[in-house]
Amino acid sequence: MTNDLTAELEFFQENLDRFILSEVLPNYEQWEKDEMFPRALWTQLGEQGFLAVEVPEEYGGAGANFLFSALILERFFYHNCSSIGSALQVHNDIVPHYVLRHGTEEQKQHYLPKMISGECIGAIGMSEPAAGSDLQGLKMRAREEGDGFVINGSKIFITNGQHCDLIALAARTNTDAKGSKGTSVFLFDCKTPGFKRGRNLEKIGLHASDTSELFFEDCHVLASAVLGQVDQGFRILMGELQRERLAIAVSAIGAAEGVLEQTISYVKEREAFGQTVADFQNTKFTIAELATEVKLNRAFIEQCKRQFMDDELSVADASMAKYASTDMQYRVADRCLQLHGGYGYMKEYGVSRAYLDARVQCIYGGTNEIMKEIIGRDVLK
Ligand SMILES: Cc1cc2nc3c(=O)[nH]c(=O)nc-3n(C[C@H](O)[C@H](O)[C@H](O)COP(=O)(O)OP(=O)(O)OC[C@H]3O[C@@H](n4cnc5c(N)ncnc54)[C@H](O)[C@@H]3O)c2cc1C
Repeated sequence: MTNDLTAELEFFQENLDRFILSEVLPNYEQWEKDEMFPRALWTQLGEQGFLAVEVPEEYGGAGANFLFSALILERFFYHNCSSIGSALQVHNDIVPHYVLRHGTEEQKQHYLPKMISGECIGAIGMSEPAAGSDLQGLKMRAREEGDGFVINGSKIFITNGQHCDLIALAARTNTDAKGSKGTSVFLFDCKTPGFKRGRNLEKIGLHASDTSELFFEDCHVLASAVLGQVDQGFRILMGELQRERLAIAVSAIGAAEGVLEQTISYVKEREAFGQTVADFQNTKFTIAELATEVKLNRAFIEQCKRQFMDDELSVADASMAKYASTDMQYRVADRCLQLHGGYGYMKEYGVSRAYLDARVQCIYGGTNEIMKEIIGRDVLK
């Protein structure tokens, strides 16, 4: 990394932090109560230049590299705003990259500028009631008809489900094909007749993020809505796995660093038995263990970032990063909560939110069991 890049990243981080502290944190608790952050925040994020930052200038983007995109996630998670961070994981780090890598020129011109401004919010529609880890069980059907396809089926647990305008949607185009074959990805416009949003699902954490079931009834889309080649959807989905897993890993390290730092301040202040909680040997050892875990994960993730930028990050290493860092994030949040005593169990203390928000990171983006399957297969091959 050149010094110029370091300076640019520092400047970018200052802007990000200023925005989060002034525009996000003062409203965040209310958004958590509302179980959704407002659509206007997307517009603000766009105005500030925090959306789809890697999109090249020719489509109105900043043409930034992955480090900037990663920094956006890290800072939202560091400041304990994981609901917004998780929305950005999808909008910034998944959907525009599908369009960039596989889209036609027309698709790029149509969607990317609006994703950068926040006019068009992206979602990824893979999971279905009967197909989560096992995407080969997808039931959503896209039947070829006339000048396009007719889509029927439903999706579940879709991040940005209430706000989204564009869904990168996986559906079966060939029901005779076995396993992963016969699936296509569509750039689905949410204005299409027959599309309905289900309710905003109630979750144990990430309250301010909208997660929904989505319904598609005889939705007619033109053939030009297909992303890449028909029946080649799995290849498209698999092609971005390293980035998606690394994005979650980066979020996890940001969140862990944030909650640890906040807990260190707390234990230095809180007193019991005539001394601060930090003075107990148990606290010192706990903090020492957590700080070590965080540092080790940070080192690995920085290595993964460099490999990713050089196009050398393997799927197995990205899976290790996702599994190790999200498990670590949850452990760190849990033990930090314990160090807060009863206050840690209270909603008004940020550590309780950090704990609840951490849980899902081990589940979405491929569960950590699936990560271990991939790593195990690679190590044992
Ligand atoms: C808040 C949230 C947001 C989400 N956002 C999105 C989104 O935007 N888009 C989207 O498409 N999906 C999204 N998901 C869905 C998420 O990706 C799935 O929940 C996840 O992939 C797991 O699938 P599942 O829930 O069907 O669990 P299942 O696949 O039913 O898994 C149940 C259990 O079995 C284990 N298991 C499954 N297969 C294996 C195996 N081969 N070996 C060992 N263990 C196994 C799993 O690890 C898990 O512990 C989201 C989920 C949540 C909770």
